Amino acid sequence: MSDLTRQSLQTIEQLQNEKLRAMLDLCARGHPYYSQRWRESNIDARDIRTLADLERLPLTHKSELMTAPERFRLSLPELPLPERALWEIIYTTGSTADPTPIYNTTHDYNAYLFQSRRVAEISNIRETDVIANLFPLTPAPMGAFVRSASNAYAAGAAIFAALPGASYGPFDVRRSVDDAVRMVAIHRATVLWGVPSFVRRLLLRAIELGADFNSVRMCAITGEASSPAMREDLRRCLRELGAAGTTVFDRYGSTELGAFAQCREDGDWHNPTPELQYHEIVDPETGHRLPDGERGALAVTHLDRRGTVLIRFVVGDVVSIDRRPCPVCGRTSERIVGPVVRTKDLVKVKGMLINPAVLLDILQSIPGIDEFQVVVRRENKADPLSRDELVVRVAGANQPEIVDMVVGRARDAIRVRPLVEFVAAKDIYDACRQTKAARFVDQRD
Ligand SMILES: [Zn+2]
Repeated sequence: MSDLTRQSLQTIEQLQNEKLRAMLDLCARGHPYYSQRWRESNIDARDIRTLADLERLPLTHKSELMTAPERFRLSLPELPLPERALWEIIYTTGSTADPTPIYNTTHDYNAYLFQSRRVAEISNIRETDVIANLFPLTPAPMGAFVRSASNAYAAGAAIFAALPGASYGPFDVRRSVDDAVRMVAIHRATVLWGVPSFVRRLLLRAIELGADFNSVRMCAITGEASSPAMREDLRRCLRELGAAGTTVFDRYGSTELGAFAQCREDGDWHNPTPELQYHEIVDPETGHRLPDGERGALAVTHLDRRGTVLIRFVVGDVVSIDRRPCPVCGRTSERIVGPVVRTKDLVKVKGMLINPAVLLDILQSIPGIDEFQVVVRRENKADPLSRDELVVRVAGANQPEIVDMVVGRARDAIRVRPLVEFVAAKDIYDACRQTKAARFVDQRD
């Protein structure tokens, strides 16, 4: 099959129209949630013929999926076995509630391998690569851990898992940061695949130990937001280790969304498989589609799934879309343009709506800070009506210059004056116990 990401936009959209009709037909016949919802709203899915018509369907919000994930699975006993057989369940990260299961049939698993192969092509993962899976084991199977293997299979690359993080019950199979450093060296890993805060911790430890990391050529990071300063710091570590390359690819995606790929560092994110998913930018209140280039809520529509199927699903990120060919690689499928702002991440502090990521970026860029954490709490814990306090906890040498810099830069960027507290690095991020660093903590509820 020819690569759809290099066809004309017209060819792509023609195929997407056909696949959309087929997908909606399956939903009308066997998707418990959508068939009922559309019936109640007097919507006949057969009237939705094109991507333009799609705007007439209601949006799906995360809360709807979280309330009844079982009702988002297709139930069509007449489908062939690969389209019905349950291959795997992956859970989306839930910060407060229990994580939500996403069901993948054999059909969906093969589609994911197909997508992963395209991602590998776009981001230059090769057969000769040895990937270090640095994600921790988690209480429920998470996409990043489970799918790192699928990505390696699809690219034809080799993979091993370091298993860092907290031990589980009686079966302590976890390895320390030092073990992870040793395994990267033993296996001559070329790609380090993990959450940025752990990858950074690993590289810092490798520098301390004088480990041989000269096989490493790339960090593929995902699972938490990273700033330009964080990515630059990873490159600095790779240079210091004499690594074969210093590429840092930030992988954007989620369990519901699938994976996007950058063709160059800090570039936009390509939709690797327009035959599997359609994206639009919407007003989350009205459901209206916004024009290309305008920032708004990202919504995804699955075009070829058989397990959990989502139509106009509001992902929870604010981005924009560019449908012009990529100036770097020439691919024609749409690109997601950052910065990615997670709507759930905006918080009110002292009456001001702030984006903590902006503050985290600033802290990342201040020299002399080893670890940091931003905490919002009440001035008086016992009094729910007392004023908010914004506290920046810093690990590093206790210097008045650091305090001045943190306070000054924070006030300029978010117009809230923080308090600064000095603590031990382990009090912020203990790599042996935590899967990732909690950079922002709201203690008010
Ligand atoms: Zn490109």
